[in-house]
Amino acid sequence: MDKIFLSPPHMSGKELSYIHKAFDENYIAPVGSNIDSFENEIQKYSGASHVLVTNSGTSAIHLALLLAGVGPGDIVLCQSLTFAASANPIRYLGAIPYFIDSEEESWNMDPDLMEDAILKCMTGKAYQASASYLDLDQQLLEELSKPKKPKAIIPVHLYGMPANMERIMKIANKYDIPVIEDAAEALGSRYFGQMCGTFSDYGIYSFNGNKIITTSAGGALITTKKENRKKAKKLASQAREKELHYEHKHIGYNYRMSNVTAGIGIAQMQVIEDRVQKRRENYFRYRENFKNVPEIQLQKERQGSYSNRWLTTILLEKGDLEDNYMDFIFHALEKMNIETRPIWKPMHLQPVYKYFPREISGVSQRLFETGICLPSGSSMSLDEIDFVSEKVMSLLAQKERVIS
Ligand SMILES: *Cc1c(COP(=O)(O)O)cnc(C)c1O
Repeated sequence: MDKIFLSPPHMSGKELSYIHKAFDENYIAPVGSNIDSFENEIQKYSGASHVLVTNSGTSAIHLALLLAGVGPGDIVLCQSLTFAASANPIRYLGAIPYFIDSEEESWNMDPDLMEDAILKCMTGKAYQASASYLDLDQQLLEELSKPKKPKAIIPVHLYGMPANMERIMKIANKYDIPVIEDAAEALGSRYFGQMCGTFSDYGIYSFNGNKIITTSAGGALITTKKENRKKAKKLASQAREKELHYEHKHIGYNYRMSNVTAGIGIAQMQVIEDRVQKRRENYFRYRENFKNVPEIQLQKERQGSYSNRWLTTILLEKGDLEDNYMDFIFHALEKMNIETRPIWKPMHLQPVYKYFPREISGVSQRLFETGICLPSGSSMSLDEIDFVSEKVMSLLAQKERVIS
């Protein structure tokens, strides 16, 4: 049997015609009509005010942080349970990530812990939130001891599930802190009917190979202000001034999307809603298959949430099972040619971030230790979903749990 992948690319069939258009026009460059059309499509679908496509979701986060004025020594609150790309751009700027644990309900940033962190920052007590502040280097300790407001907040819509944007925005507005929504995994997800990525000053999408739609690599920055899009476009184009000669007053980046790959994006946007519906169908099939298995819990939608169900993720009740239980499951599925993945390892547990402050409840660590992302591609058949479900259930029923 062929390998069942976690989330493989799923072409609509029209992609090559737009790539040919780029070739016919000879715009094999980071400018051209495909880029303009792709931006328009994203804008229409999401209801965003302004869209700038980029060469990755990570560079879109970096640009958003620059627009929010984040610089060396600034503190940025960031969801701990996420992919490293949410947090790394904070460090590109020499700023300090302050990691916030998840709420049970959405698995995303806990608004109460977020407010606790804001108050600690404002009273110069953020250093107390570091795991081992006695080991902190002097500079970090000094920055965390200065009373100051966080410069930005990065919530994530994990696996497509909307974060609690209502409360997050209310608190962020109360303290007047810009929010950057990491909607890399959540194109097509809604919260009370509004598209994720459009709730705040800045949002980002990713079109990497395994996301709900793909341009092979790519991303988009969503912003509410025309002026911000203009600034971001300049920064993404090496910050070149409007002079015939190459004049530069700022440090810039090479972050624009290619007109060739934007062609893939146009064709992918034509089927985005089909992709959302199919991923949701996958989720409902898994849920039906597991309905009589008490050890398996699924990520639930709270009232008003509508997830694109990018990945169907399950939690296993481990009870008093042995420590290597999860390893056993992952290895066994791999041997059956079924690609799965643990839930993201929280940033506050990553060696590279061990000295940075955190507000922890333990929720994200438990999700990480008991979670499995199941194959969820929109090109999967329901038979394949049933096959994977059966394999998971048979492993759970197995008495002898030996990793071979
Ligand atoms: C994929 C992803 C990113 C980064 O997007 P790239 O396009 O791969 O740079 C950022 N945040 C999250 C949560 C992601 O899943």
